[in-house]
Amino acid sequence: MFAVGHMAIAYLLGKASSKALNTKLNIPILLVLSILPDIDIIYDLLTGAEIHRGPTHSIIVALIVFVPLFVYYGRQVIPYFLALISHFLIADFIIGGQLQLFWPLSSAEFGLYELGSVYIQIFDPFNIMLEIGLFAVATTILYRTSDWKVFFRPNKLSLVLVIPIATVLLPSTIGYPFTNSLLFTAPILALAHIFYLVLFSVAVYKTLAKMYKEQFGGGKNDLAFISG
Ligand SMILES: [Zn+2]
Repeated sequence: MFAVGHMAIAYLLGKASSKALNTKLNIPILLVLSILPDIDIIYDLLTGAEIHRGPTHSIIVALIVFVPLFVYYGRQVIPYFLALISHFLIADFIIGGQLQLFWPLSSAEFGLYELGSVYIQIFDPFNIMLEIGLFAVATTILYRTSDWKVFFRPNKLSLVLVIPIATVLLPSTIGYPFTNSLLFTAPILALAHIFYLVLFSVAVYKTLAKMYKEQFGGGKNDLAFISG
């Protein structure tokens, strides 16, 4: 799936689970976890290797990372864990498959296709419609619950949104790892990517602007002191 589908599924799961568990939720971190496995695309690009859908899409690796967090933070980690594993156990499992879910114990590949289903590739109209539908539902809930406001409030934790901006949202909107820009191949999905791009950029900009002000905001008073 594209970033939009991953983030929508993670948001819906995270929202439902945090409500059921009565725990607080940091939406930027939740969204970043949902796309984090795909940083292997950037690794492949930089090194010429081919590890996509390998170690970063492994349930074993996810457990190794999350067990200490479960021990330390308890059940409030559950929505974040669901966001991460939904990437490969739901989204990529249905679309594309070829997942090394049990790396490093086994390099066998898994997915709906491997289980005998038809192969659904990422540009299949079924996937494009599915992602647009998920995006519509997630965005409606984001609006109705006022969760969107989190992107307009400065918060240092929101700086994690630089990760999806740089690794998945910008590249796939421009075209990488595909030959054409999404704007030409799946325009509505491209607009959904741009929606998240703008929202995340606002959050990063607001946070950086506040940090800059805190760091250098005293300058005005200093000057007044010197000139006075
Ligand atoms: Zn993936």
